[in-house]
Amino acid sequence: MKAEIVSIGTEILLGDILDTNSNYIASRLPGLGIDLYYTSQIGDNRARLADLLRRGWERSDLILCSGGLGPTEDDVTREAICEVLEEEPRIDPALEDELRAFFARRGSQMPERNLKQAWLTPSTRAIPNPRGTAPGWWSEKHGKIIIAMPGPPGEMQRMWEKEVAPELERRSDAIIVSRTIKTSGLGEGTVDEMISPLLKSTNPSIGVYAKPDGIHLRLTSKAATREEAARLIEPLEEAVERILGGVIWGHDDETFEVAVGRMLRERGLTIATMESATGGLLASTITDAPGSSNYMVGGLVAYATEQKIAWGVPREVIDEHGVISVETARAMAAAARRQCGSDIGVGITGVAGPDPQDDKAPGTMHVAVDSGDGGDSMSYTYNQSRDHNKRRAVANALQLVRRTLLAAR
Ligand code: ATP
Repeated sequence: MKAEIVSIGTEILLGDILDTNSNYIASRLPGLGIDLYYTSQIGDNRARLADLLRRGWERSDLILCSGGLGPTEDDVTREAICEVLEEEPRIDPALEDELRAFFARRGSQMPERNLKQAWLTPSTRAIPNPRGTAPGWWSEKHGKIIIAMPGPPGEMQRMWEKEVAPELERRSDAIIVSRTIKTSGLGEGTVDEMISPLLKSTNPSIGVYAKPDGIHLRLTSKAATREEAARLIEPLEEAVERILGGVIWGHDDETFEVAVGRMLRERGLTIATMESATGGLLASTITDAPGSSNYMVGGLVAYATEQKIAWGVPREVIDEHGVISVETARAMAAAARRQCGSDIGVGITGVAGPDPQDDKAPGTMHVAVDSGDGGDSMSYTYNQSRDHNKRRAVANALQLVRRTLLAAR
């Protein structure tokens, strides 16, 4: 099936909003075995939109629109689709009732201009939208489909997941299923070499990708149904797990902070942080994981040297080794543990950049973990942007926590 995506809204053309809807939809089409040929962005102009849809109608089997379903004069998606279908819209009584009830539930009367949100045409059915007033439109004629979804991403994504994707999947004869296996601690080349006997497989296939949180392996299979595609992947996944075993830390959408959080929970351990160069980003990242209150005790941002000392970093350590040193990072990790009474403490000190500090190059970072009866540390200089340097230090700190937990097993 040849598809195209149309994002509708002058705000998109002006650069006021980022077209995340296209990205969302595009990323989901391969899984449904649908080939994306074109993506367009267009303003709220009826004639130009009708023109674009007419072209799409000729060259594609499926047009996926988002935006322009509101009640205002500017919202012209329905009008443009009617032009392409060469059909007149009519008010659907059931939709009108629903719309009026929606407003009544909010204690207001429906403005009459909202009535066009109850329109349908002979080739169009409404797609339910419990999150908003505008139902979507599924128009189908002469073997071609136009789907119009609301612009607000929360409404569009729900409609996609619950209504549109399942129906497209039912009609598809080639479903693609992917599974991502996430590793850390080994380089791309090493992982590639270790799994080289598996790389010959074509369905399922396997790809190796370097990401900020480690090396990812993406296993992909194609079959007539989702179940069959998933079955094809299983033996390959088992083979990868046999080869890479201990370096695998997660799957699919799982993040490093979620994986580390799970390990802490399983072991019944708590954690606290003392950060300098990363300014609290590590604590913030740890708390991105739902349920982190089970193990996260506290995060101290000790930016100034005197504050590090006030929170328990020995002055002698800083005098002897300097504030940007692995010894200070270790002392910060131990101080975080003591101050917060946690099982594990993490310390980060370094130069976020772009300028050097105390003769230390930008991108120099010292990260340490203290677990009471042991610890681990990591020092490196890898300079990119300030933001990147901070994020890398946080990723390495989480990495180090994981290493410490595995070593203590
Ligand atoms: P509404 O009923 O809210 O007016 P609509 O279907 O008419 O919905 P638009 O008015 O086109 O949608 O867009 C509403 C809001 O949705 C925009 O202000 C923007 O915040 C968001 N939005 C629209 N299109 C996109 C897009 N392609 N990507 C991301 N956000 C979008």
